[in-house]
Amino acid sequence: MFDNLSDKLDKALHVLKGHGQITEINVAETTKEVRRALLDADVNFKIAKEFTNRVKEKALGQNVLNTLQPSQLMVKIVKDELTQLMGGESEGIDLSGNPSVILMSGLQGSGKTTFSGKLANFLKTKKSKNPLLVACDVYRPAAIDQLHVVGEQINVPVFSDRENKDPVAIAKAGIAKAKAEGNNVVIIDTAGRLAVDEKMMNEISDIHKAIKPQETLFVVDSMTGQDAVNTAKAFNDLLNFDGVILTKLDGDTRGGAAISIKSVVNKPIKFIGTGEKMEAIDVFYPSRMADRILG
Ligand code: GDP
Repeated sequence: MFDNLSDKLDKALHVLKGHGQITEINVAETTKEVRRALLDADVNFKIAKEFTNRVKEKALGQNVLNTLQPSQLMVKIVKDELTQLMGGESEGIDLSGNPSVILMSGLQGSGKTTFSGKLANFLKTKKSKNPLLVACDVYRPAAIDQLHVVGEQINVPVFSDRENKDPVAIAKAGIAKAKAEGNNVVIIDTAGRLAVDEKMMNEISDIHKAIKPQETLFVVDSMTGQDAVNTAKAFNDLLNFDGVILTKLDGDTRGGAAISIKSVVNKPIKFIGTGEKMEAIDVFYPSRMADRILG
Protein backbone atom coordinates (compact mmCIF):
# COMPACT_ATOMS: atom_id res chain seq x y z
CA MET A 1 0.00 0.00 0.00
CA PHE A 2 1.30 3.46 -0.95
CA ASP A 3 4.82 2.10 -1.51
CA ASN A 4 5.73 4.79 -3.96
CA LEU A 5 4.63 7.59 -1.64
CA SER A 6 6.45 6.03 1.30
CA ASP A 7 9.57 5.75 -0.80
CA LYS A 8 9.47 9.32 -2.01
CA LEU A 9 8.75 10.77 1.41
CA ASP A 10 11.55 8.70 2.87
CA LYS A 11 13.96 10.08 0.29
CA ALA A 12 12.72 13.65 0.76
CA LEU A 13 13.09 13.52 4.54
CA HIS A 14 16.42 11.78 4.62
CA VAL A 15 18.11 14.43 2.56
CA LEU A 16 18.49 16.14 5.92
CA LYS A 17 20.16 13.18 7.53
CA GLY A 18 23.79 13.70 8.25
CA HIS A 19 23.42 17.46 8.32
CA GLY A 20 24.55 18.47 11.79
CA GLN A 21 23.18 21.89 11.06
CA ILE A 22 20.68 22.71 8.41
CA THR A 23 19.64 25.91 6.78
CA GLU A 24 16.34 27.45 5.84
CA ILE A 25 17.20 26.46 2.28
CA ASN A 26 17.46 22.77 3.30
CA VAL A 27 14.01 22.98 4.91
CA ALA A 28 12.55 24.61 1.82
CA GLU A 29 14.06 21.96 -0.44
CA THR A 30 12.78 19.15 1.73
CA THR A 31 9.24 20.49 1.91
CA LYS A 32 9.27 20.96 -1.85
CA GLU A 33 10.14 17.28 -2.27
CA VAL A 34 7.39 16.34 0.21
CA ARG A 35 4.91 18.33 -1.85
CA ARG A 36 6.07 16.63 -5.04
CA ALA A 37 5.61 13.21 -3.41
CA LEU A 38 2.05 14.12 -2.37
CA LEU A 39 1.17 15.38 -5.84
CA ASP A 40 2.54 12.18 -7.37
CA ALA A 41 0.26 10.25 -5.00
CA ASP A 42 -2.70 12.14 -6.54
CA VAL A 43 -3.28 14.39 -3.56
CA ASN A 44 -5.24 17.51 -4.48
CA PHE A 45 -2.92 20.42 -5.36
CA LYS A 46 -4.37 22.87 -2.81
CA ILE A 47 -4.20 20.31 0.00
CA ALA A 48 -0.60 19.42 -0.84
CA LYS A 49 0.37 23.10 -0.91
CA GLU A 50 -1.29 23.92 2.40
CA PHE A 51 0.18 20.79 3.94
CA THR A 52 3.75 21.66 3.01
CA ASN A 53 3.30 25.27 4.09
CA ARG A 54 2.24 24.05 7.54
CA VAL A 55 5.18 21.66 7.72
CA LYS A 56 7.59 24.43 6.76
CA GLU A 57 6.14 26.85 9.30
CA LYS A 58 6.27 24.27 12.05
CA ALA A 59 9.80 23.23 11.16
CA LEU A 60 11.08 26.78 11.32
CA GLY A 61 8.93 27.55 14.38
CA GLN A 62 10.21 24.54 16.28
CA ASN A 63 13.70 25.59 15.46
CA VAL A 64 14.58 22.57 13.41
CA LEU A 65 17.70 24.43 12.40
CA ASN A 66 19.21 24.17 15.84
CA THR A 67 18.30 20.61 16.80
CA LEU A 68 20.86 17.86 16.82
CA GLN A 69 18.85 15.56 14.60
CA PRO A 70 16.90 17.74 12.22
CA SER A 71 15.78 14.83 10.01
CA GLN A 72 14.07 13.09 12.94
CA LEU A 73 12.23 16.24 13.90
CA MET A 74 11.11 16.74 10.30
CA VAL A 75 9.79 13.15 10.16
CA LYS A 76 7.82 13.79 13.33
CA ILE A 77 6.37 17.04 12.01
CA VAL A 78 5.33 15.40 8.74
CA LYS A 79 3.83 12.43 10.62
CA ASP A 80 1.82 14.69 12.93
CA GLU A 81 0.55 16.76 10.02
CA LEU A 82 -0.37 13.64 8.00
CA THR A 83 -2.30 12.31 10.99
CA GLN A 84 -4.18 15.60 11.33
CA LEU A 85 -4.90 15.68 7.60
CA MET A 86 -6.40 12.19 7.70
CA GLY A 87 -8.57 12.96 10.70
CA GLY A 88 -6.71 13.18 14.01
CA GLU A 89 -8.47 10.88 16.49
CA SER A 90 -10.21 7.75 15.25
CA GLU A 91 -14.03 7.92 15.38
CA GLY A 92 -16.38 5.03 16.03
CA ILE A 93 -19.91 4.53 14.76
CA ASP A 94 -23.08 5.39 16.64
CA LEU A 95 -24.70 2.20 17.91
CA SER A 96 -26.98 3.88 20.43
CA GLY A 97 -30.27 3.35 18.56
CA ASN A 98 -32.58 0.44 19.13
CA PRO A 99 -32.20 -0.68 16.47
CA SER A 100 -29.28 1.41 15.21
CA VAL A 101 -29.90 2.07 11.56
CA ILE A 102 -26.87 2.37 9.28
CA LEU A 103 -27.44 3.60 5.72
CA MET A 104 -24.89 2.81 3.02
CA SER A 105 -24.44 5.22 0.13
CA GLY A 106 -22.08 5.36 -2.82
CA LEU A 107 -21.63 4.52 -6.48
CA GLN A 108 -22.19 1.11 -8.04
CA GLY A 109 -19.06 -0.98 -7.76
CA SER A 110 -17.65 1.04 -4.87
CA GLY A 111 -17.98 -1.98 -2.59
CA LYS A 112 -21.22 -1.16 -0.70
CA THR A 113 -22.65 -4.68 -0.65
CA THR A 114 -19.32 -6.25 0.29
CA PHE A 115 -18.78 -3.68 3.01
CA SER A 116 -22.35 -4.09 4.34
CA GLY A 117 -21.46 -7.75 4.91
CA LYS A 118 -18.08 -6.94 6.40
CA LEU A 119 -19.60 -4.43 8.81
CA ALA A 120 -22.38 -6.84 9.83
CA ASN A 121 -19.77 -9.51 10.49
CA PHE A 122 -17.55 -7.07 12.41
CA LEU A 123 -20.43 -5.87 14.60
CA LYS A 124 -21.58 -9.43 15.22
CA THR A 125 -18.20 -10.91 16.09
CA LYS A 126 -16.45 -7.93 17.69
CA LYS A 127 -19.33 -5.99 19.27
CA SER A 128 -21.76 -8.83 20.03
CA LYS A 129 -24.49 -7.19 17.95
CA ASN A 130 -27.31 -8.97 16.20
CA PRO A 131 -27.54 -7.27 12.79
CA LEU A 132 -30.07 -7.48 9.97
CA LEU A 133 -29.04 -6.67 6.39
CA VAL A 134 -31.62 -4.99 4.14
CA ALA A 135 -31.42 -5.06 0.32
CA CYS A 136 -32.79 -1.82 -1.16
CA ASP A 137 -31.53 -2.08 -4.74
CA VAL A 138 -34.76 -2.36 -6.73
CA TYR A 139 -33.05 -2.23 -10.14
CA ARG A 140 -30.59 -5.11 -10.09
CA PRO A 141 -31.92 -8.50 -8.93
CA ALA A 142 -28.29 -9.66 -8.90
CA ALA A 143 -27.54 -7.11 -6.19
CA ILE A 144 -30.24 -8.66 -3.97
CA ASP A 145 -28.83 -12.13 -4.66
CA GLN A 146 -25.35 -10.89 -3.80
CA LEU A 147 -26.47 -9.60 -0.40
CA HIS A 148 -28.17 -12.94 0.33
CA VAL A 149 -24.95 -14.77 -0.53
CA VAL A 150 -23.00 -12.46 1.78
CA GLY A 151 -25.57 -12.96 4.55
CA GLU A 152 -25.30 -16.74 4.28
CA GLN A 153 -21.51 -16.54 4.37
CA ILE A 154 -21.49 -14.68 7.68
CA ASN A 155 -24.69 -16.17 9.05
CA VAL A 156 -26.56 -12.88 9.28
CA PRO A 157 -30.24 -12.60 8.18
CA VAL A 158 -31.10 -10.59 5.06
CA PHE A 159 -34.39 -8.83 4.41
CA SER A 160 -35.48 -8.25 0.80
CA ASP A 161 -38.73 -7.86 -1.12
CA ARG A 162 -38.33 -8.58 -4.82
CA GLU A 163 -41.92 -7.56 -5.63
CA ASN A 164 -41.56 -4.11 -4.13
CA LYS A 165 -40.04 -1.35 -6.29
CA ASP A 166 -40.10 1.34 -3.61
CA PRO A 167 -36.77 1.45 -1.74
CA VAL A 168 -38.19 3.71 1.01
CA ALA A 169 -40.94 1.17 1.75
CA ILE A 170 -38.41 -1.70 1.75
CA ALA A 171 -36.10 0.16 4.14
CA LYS A 172 -39.01 0.89 6.50
CA ALA A 173 -40.22 -2.71 6.33
CA GLY A 174 -36.68 -3.88 7.09
CA ILE A 175 -36.49 -1.69 10.19
CA ALA A 176 -39.93 -2.92 11.32
CA LYS A 177 -38.78 -6.51 10.88
CA ALA A 178 -35.64 -5.84 12.94
CA LYS A 179 -37.77 -4.39 15.73
CA ALA A 180 -40.09 -7.38 15.64
CA GLU A 181 -37.27 -9.91 15.64
CA GLY A 182 -34.92 -8.20 18.06
CA ASN A 183 -32.12 -7.20 15.68
CA ASN A 184 -30.31 -4.28 17.30
CA VAL A 185 -28.52 -3.09 14.14
CA VAL A 186 -29.99 -2.64 10.66
CA ILE A 187 -27.61 -2.16 7.74
CA ILE A 188 -29.31 -0.83 4.64
CA ASP A 189 -27.59 -1.49 1.32
CA THR A 190 -28.79 0.85 -1.44
CA ALA A 191 -28.59 1.07 -5.24
CA GLY A 192 -25.69 2.95 -6.75
CA ARG A 193 -25.02 3.99 -10.31
CA LEU A 194 -21.80 4.25 -12.25
CA ALA A 195 -21.68 8.03 -11.86
CA VAL A 196 -23.48 10.64 -9.79
CA ASP A 197 -26.93 11.15 -11.38
CA GLU A 198 -30.07 12.94 -10.31
CA LYS A 199 -32.30 9.89 -9.98
CA MET A 200 -29.89 8.04 -7.71
CA MET A 201 -29.27 11.14 -5.61
CA ASN A 202 -33.01 11.77 -5.19
CA GLU A 203 -33.56 8.18 -4.21
CA ILE A 204 -30.86 8.02 -1.55
CA SER A 205 -31.97 11.40 -0.25
CA ASP A 206 -35.59 10.14 0.05
CA ILE A 207 -34.47 7.02 1.96
CA HIS A 208 -32.27 9.16 4.21
CA LYS A 209 -35.10 11.57 5.03
CA ALA A 210 -37.64 8.80 5.61
CA ILE A 211 -35.63 6.58 7.95
CA LYS A 212 -33.36 9.12 9.69
CA PRO A 213 -30.46 6.71 10.21
CA GLN A 214 -28.08 6.93 13.19
CA GLU A 215 -25.21 6.59 10.75
CA THR A 216 -25.01 7.40 7.07
CA LEU A 217 -21.84 6.01 5.59
CA PHE A 218 -20.39 6.89 2.21
CA VAL A 219 -18.54 4.01 0.57
CA VAL A 220 -15.89 4.82 -2.03
CA ASP A 221 -13.29 2.97 -4.07
CA SER A 222 -9.93 4.42 -3.04
CA MET A 223 -8.38 3.41 -6.35
CA THR A 224 -10.39 6.14 -8.10
CA GLY A 225 -8.18 8.83 -6.52
CA GLN A 226 -9.40 12.39 -7.11
CA ASP A 227 -12.72 11.09 -8.50
CA ALA A 228 -13.31 9.49 -5.11
CA VAL A 229 -12.85 12.88 -3.49
CA ASN A 230 -15.23 14.62 -5.94
CA THR A 231 -17.91 11.95 -5.49
CA ALA A 232 -17.55 12.24 -1.72
CA LYS A 233 -18.21 15.96 -1.99
CA ALA A 234 -21.39 15.43 -4.07
CA PHE A 235 -22.80 12.87 -1.61
CA ASN A 236 -21.84 14.93 1.42
CA ASP A 237 -23.51 18.06 0.01
CA LEU A 238 -26.70 16.01 -0.31
CA LEU A 239 -26.65 13.76 2.75
CA ASN A 240 -24.30 15.41 5.21
CA PHE A 241 -23.07 11.88 5.91
CA ASP A 242 -21.32 10.77 9.10
CA GLY A 243 -18.31 8.96 7.77
CA VAL A 244 -16.37 7.58 4.84
CA ILE A 245 -15.55 3.95 4.08
CA LEU A 246 -12.50 3.62 1.86
CA THR A 247 -12.55 0.31 0.04
CA LYS A 248 -9.95 -1.52 -2.05
CA LEU A 249 -7.03 -0.02 -0.19
CA ASP A 250 -5.26 -3.30 -0.92
CA GLY A 251 -5.16 -2.27 -4.59
CA ASP A 252 -4.57 1.45 -4.07
CA THR A 253 -0.93 2.12 -4.77
CA ARG A 254 -1.04 5.90 -4.65
CA GLY A 255 -3.02 6.95 -1.59
CA GLY A 256 -4.41 10.28 -2.82
CA ALA A 257 -8.00 9.59 -1.75
CA ALA A 258 -7.01 8.41 1.73
CA ILE A 259 -4.96 11.54 2.29
CA SER A 260 -7.30 14.13 0.72
CA ILE A 261 -10.85 13.04 1.49
CA LYS A 262 -11.11 14.14 5.13
CA SER A 263 -10.05 17.71 4.47
CA VAL A 264 -12.42 18.07 1.51
CA VAL A 265 -15.61 16.83 3.20
CA ASN A 266 -14.54 17.30 6.83
CA LYS A 267 -15.88 13.88 7.77
CA PRO A 268 -13.83 11.06 9.26
CA ILE A 269 -12.77 7.92 7.44
CA LYS A 270 -14.25 5.27 9.73
CA PHE A 271 -13.27 1.95 8.18
CA ILE A 272 -11.13 0.66 5.35
CA GLY A 273 -11.65 -2.35 3.12
CA THR A 274 -8.49 -4.30 2.37
CA GLY A 275 -9.70 -7.25 0.29
CA GLU A 276 -12.73 -9.15 -1.00
CA LYS A 277 -13.11 -11.45 2.00
CA MET A 278 -15.54 -10.70 4.83
CA GLU A 279 -12.67 -10.35 7.31
CA ALA A 280 -10.87 -7.73 5.20
CA ILE A 281 -12.09 -4.74 7.22
CA ASP A 282 -10.11 -2.47 9.54
CA VAL A 283 -11.05 0.43 11.76
CA PHE A 284 -9.26 3.46 10.33
CA TYR A 285 -6.67 5.03 12.63
CA PRO A 286 -5.14 8.16 11.10
CA SER A 287 -1.96 7.92 13.18
CA ARG A 288 -1.40 4.27 12.26
CA MET A 289 -1.91 5.11 8.61
CA ALA A 290 0.60 7.98 8.90
CA ASP A 291 3.06 5.55 10.51
CA ARG A 292 2.56 3.14 7.64
CA ILE A 293 3.06 5.82 5.04
CA LEU A 294 6.25 7.08 6.65
CA GLY A 295 7.55 3.59 7.38
P1 GDP B 1 -21.42 -2.27 -4.85
O1 GDP B 1 -21.90 -2.22 -6.28
O2 GDP B 1 -21.10 -0.90 -4.34
O3 GDP B 1 -22.34 -3.00 -3.94
O4 GDP B 1 -20.01 -3.04 -4.87
P2 GDP B 1 -19.66 -4.56 -4.51
O5 GDP B 1 -19.73 -4.79 -3.05
O6 GDP B 1 -20.44 -5.46 -5.40
O7 GDP B 1 -18.11 -4.61 -4.90
C1 GDP B 1 -17.65 -4.44 -6.23
C2 GDP B 1 -16.40 -5.33 -6.42
O8 GDP B 1 -15.35 -4.84 -5.60
C3 GDP B 1 -16.62 -6.78 -6.03
O9 GDP B 1 -15.96 -7.60 -6.96
C4 GDP B 1 -15.98 -6.89 -4.65
O10 GDP B 1 -15.48 -8.20 -4.39
C5 GDP B 1 -14.83 -5.90 -4.78
N1 GDP B 1 -14.41 -5.32 -3.50
C6 GDP B 1 -15.16 -4.73 -2.55
N2 GDP B 1 -14.40 -4.28 -1.52
C7 GDP B 1 -13.12 -4.61 -1.82
C8 GDP B 1 -11.84 -4.40 -1.15
O11 GDP B 1 -11.71 -3.82 -0.06
N3 GDP B 1 -10.74 -4.88 -1.82
C9 GDP B 1 -10.83 -5.51 -3.02
N4 GDP B 1 -9.69 -5.93 -3.59
N5 GDP B 1 -11.99 -5.71 -3.67
C10 GDP B 1 -13.13 -5.27 -3.08
